[in-house]
Parts: sequence; structure tokens; C-alpha cells
Amino acid sequence: MTRNVLVTGGGTGIGHAIARHFAEQGDTVVITGRRSGPLKEAADRIGARAVVCDHTDPDALTRLLAELPDRVDVLVNNAGGNTDFDADAASDLASYARDFRANLDANLVSAALTTKALEGRLATGGAVVHIGSIAAARGGGSYGAAKAGLATWNIDLARALGSRGITANVVAPGYIADTEFFRDRLTDERRTQLVTETAVDRPGAPEDVAGAVAFLASPAARHITGQTLHVNGGALTTR
Ligand code: NDP
Repeated sequence: MTRNVLVTGGGTGIGHAIARHFAEQGDTVVITGRRSGPLKEAADRIGARAVVCDHTDPDALTRLLAELPDRVDVLVNNAGGNTDFDADAASDLASYARDFRANLDANLVSAALTTKALEGRLATGGAVVHIGSIAAARGGGSYGAAKAGLATWNIDLARALGSRGITANVVAPGYIADTEFFRDRLTDERRTQLVTETAVDRPGAPEDVAGAVAFLASPAARHITGQTLHVNGGALTTR
């Protein structure tokens, strides 16, 4: 059966690789983002449908619902990023509050709102996958706090959706190259450090994350829920 898949932030980077993966499997894919031009081009490249949406905005999410099918089998809450990269360093308490809340909105509230909006349409046997971060375990200011909150909130989501046979998990990437995440702020020195921290001596690729998301959305992963799956080349190990 063809699945209906929504990948938020699917126009670039990790989200685009995830969307491409599902489209190549024959699924019907919708991708979202705030910039319509790049989003439409990205959708055309992989045979997906583009819908402009800011996932922090409840009104935009209500409009998105009108563009989506009645049944959604897989929801991937990928939209996000470290909003501090786009902010001036906070100089007073009001600016600090604004910048802190921006990361919570972009990475935690966006996923919660999107899931709430789509809750009634999620298909029995479906899957919700959020893109978290290694920063949730290692720190990373308000960005890391938002991703840690996402993983904690996901525990309750997994319990709420479990009786409907729907799983809810987090995929937490380490350093993934070839995305717009770092803007122009990643120095060669920092990049080398991030690669050196891995056991495999290479950065992750968006396709590495896409593979993990595809697994969690597959029939093979129906008893895996409420978990965080780390995709970081061994930069952070668990037991
Ligand atoms: P990108 O910046 O390439 O992708 C982020 C995408 O999300 C963009 O397409 C952006 O499009 C979209 N987006 C951001 N905010 C919103 C919003 N409010 N509403 C709708 N769309 C939004 O970076 P990545 O691919 O690297 O990031 C994808 C996810 O992976 C993020 O959640 C990030 O935090 C996470 N991550 C990335 C890591 C890395 O090393 N690259 C490491 C760990 C986690 P637009 O601006 O047009 O809205």
C-alpha cells in the first residue's frame, strides 16, 4: 500500500534526504518549509508535493491540514535548527528571552503543534519520527534544551499513540555535513574536531539519517517506540 508521508522542512538537508528516500520507495510525500522557491524546486526534484508552512504558527498549521490527505501514515518532524546562528548575541535580558524562546519554538513547540494538528489523521500502524540532536545529551544552550525537551515530550506521545498501533521515536543526529544547519559559522577547526570525535572518522550524511528514519517507519520497527536512536558515527555512545 502506498503510504502518505509528511516531512517538515523537507526542502533542504536532512529533511530532503528523508523525503527522497520515501519518494523512491513509492510513497506519496508532502514536504514543507517557509521559503516557497527552494521548497518547490526541491519537491520537483523528487516527485513530492510542496506546501509552504511555518510549523511554529498554529494558523499556518490549520491551513496545512487543508492541503493534506485524510490519512497520514508517517509524520517526520524534521523542521528546526539552531536559531542562535541567525540571532545577534543577546545584549539584555529581553533579547536573551526572545532568542531562548526562538529555539524552543523552532525545535520543540513546532513538533508538538504539528503532531497535535495531525493527531486525528495518523493512521493505525503509522509512525511519528522527530529529528532530535546529539546536543540534547551534550548541551548546546537553548537549542540543546529544546531537543532534550523534544525527546522527553516524545515519551508521553508514544504512550498516547501506542493503543492505536502508532510508534513515536526520535532520531538524534551528530554532525551531519551538506545541510544549511551551520549557515557560514562552521570553522575548519571545529569541523575537524567534530569528525575526530567520531569512531568512523567522517561526518554524517543526510542519507545516514534518512536510513534510520525509514527503519523506524518500517514494519520491522513496530515494537520500537518512545526511544531515541543516535546517528552520530560513535561520537556519543550509549549502553
Ligand atoms: P537545514 O537548515 O538544511 O534544514 C532545516 C529545514 O527546516 C530547512 O529546509 C528549513 O526551511 C526548515 N525549517 C526550519 N524552520 C522551519 C519552520 N519553522 N517551519 C517550516 N520549516 C522550517 O538543516 P538540517 O537539514 O541539518 O536540519 C534538519 C534537522 O536536523 C533540524 O531539526 C536540526 O536541528 C537537526 N540536526 C542537524 C544536525 C546537523 O549537523 N546538520 C545535527 C543534529 C540535528 P525554511 O528555512 O525554508 O523554512
